[in-house]
Amino acid sequence: MERIYLDYAATTPCDPQVLKAMEPYFTEKFGNPSSIHSFGQEAKKGIEDARQNLSDFLGAKPEEIVFTSGGTESNNFAIFGAASALEKKGNHIITSVIEHHAITEPCKALEKRGFSVTYVKVDKNGLVDPCDVKKAITDKTILISIMHANNEIGVIEPIAEIGKIAKERGIVLHTDAVQTVGHIPVNVNELSVDCLSLSAHKFYGPKGVGALYIRKGTRVNRFLLGGDQEKGRRASTHNVSGIVGMGKAIELAGDKMKEEADFQSGLRDKLIKGLTEKIDRSYLNGHPARRLPNNANISFEYIEGESILLNLDMLGIAASTGSACTSSSLEPSHVLLAIGLRPENAHGSVRLTLGRWTKQKDVDYVIEVLPGIVDKLRQMSPLYEKK
Ligand SMILES: *Cc1c(COP(=O)(O)O)cnc(C)c1O
Repeated sequence: MERIYLDYAATTPCDPQVLKAMEPYFTEKFGNPSSIHSFGQEAKKGIEDARQNLSDFLGAKPEEIVFTSGGTESNNFAIFGAASALEKKGNHIITSVIEHHAITEPCKALEKRGFSVTYVKVDKNGLVDPCDVKKAITDKTILISIMHANNEIGVIEPIAEIGKIAKERGIVLHTDAVQTVGHIPVNVNELSVDCLSLSAHKFYGPKGVGALYIRKGTRVNRFLLGGDQEKGRRASTHNVSGIVGMGKAIELAGDKMKEEADFQSGLRDKLIKGLTEKIDRSYLNGHPARRLPNNANISFEYIEGESILLNLDMLGIAASTGSACTSSSLEPSHVLLAIGLRPENAHGSVRLTLGRWTKQKDVDYVIEVLPGIVDKLRQMSPLYEKK
C-alpha cells in the first residue's frame, strides 16, 4: 500500500540533499569544533557556514545565532534565560493561550518561582490582538513571548505589530517561529523581535537540532552550563552533522520557499474546500487567510478525531489531531478550546499538513475517502441524527 504523509507540522523527512551534506561530518570530518587542530577546524568551518546560512535567511548577524538541541530547548532558553537576566527589573511575562507546551510549561515553572504571567486570549480565528498585549504591559513586564504561527491551526500571528509595541516600551520580545522558519519569510528586523526559536526537523533538516536567535545587546542568561561553546552562551559539544544539515536545509528552503508555498496553499485550499463542501457539519479551524500555506485543521461534528485518524491510517494516510506532543493525552486541545470550540467539537478535529513531497493525487485521495469515513463513524455515533 502506498502511504501518504500529511503530518508535516509534526516533523518532516530529511531532504536527500541535507543528508548528503551531513554525511562527511559523521566520518572523515568528525573533529570537535572546539579543537585547535585541522580536524577541529574543518568541523568548525561546517558550523560557521551553517550559521551564515541561517543568519542570511533571518536577516540577522551570524554572531546572533546560538545553536541548540531544537525548538524545545530554544524556547526554554529564551524564557528562563530572559527571566533570570531581567529578574531585577521585573517579574511579569506576557504570552498567549495558544502557545506550544515548550513555552507554557517554562512559564508555569516561573509562576511557581514568583513570576506573574498574563496569558492573552485569541479571537475565534486564533489571532492575538496586539492591543491586548499592549494593555497587559505593566512597569514590571520584562518579556513578551508570542508564537509566530500556531502548530495546530496554522494561524500566523501579528508579530510585527506586537514588535512595535515591545520596542516602544523597551521589553524583550521572543517568538516561537518553529512553524514558520523555512516555510514563509521570517525577518527578525521586519518582525522587530529580540529572540526567535527555530528547529531543523520542521523544515526538512534532522531532528535534535535548532537555534535561538538573540539580538545583539539582549540580555539572556545561559540555560545550559558547562564548557564555553557558542561564546559561553550554550555549553556542550556541537552537534556538528546536525548543524551542517540545518544549514543545508535553510539554504534549500530559501531557494524553494516561494514556489512551495504557492503550490501547497493551492492544494490546501482544495483540500479544505473539498472536505467542508462534501461533509456536512464540518468546518475549518483558524483564520481562513492568515494561515500557514500547508495547514488544514478541520472539525467534524459528532465524532472523535482519533477514530478518523485510525481509519485514515488503515488506508495509509497519516494525519493528526492537533499537536503530536499531546496525542497521548485525552485532554481536548487547548488551542481549539481557546478559539471557542466546545470540548466535543475540539475532540472531533483533524490536522492535515502538507509538505515538499505532497502530490495533487494525495489530496484528491483524501477528499475521496474521508467523507465515507466520517459517514461510517457518524452512523455509529449516538450523538448523530441525520437531518
Ligand atoms: C515542533 C514545535 C516545537 C518543538 O520543537 P522540537 O525541535 O521538536 O523540540 C516548538 N514549538 C512549535 C510551534 C513547534 O511546532
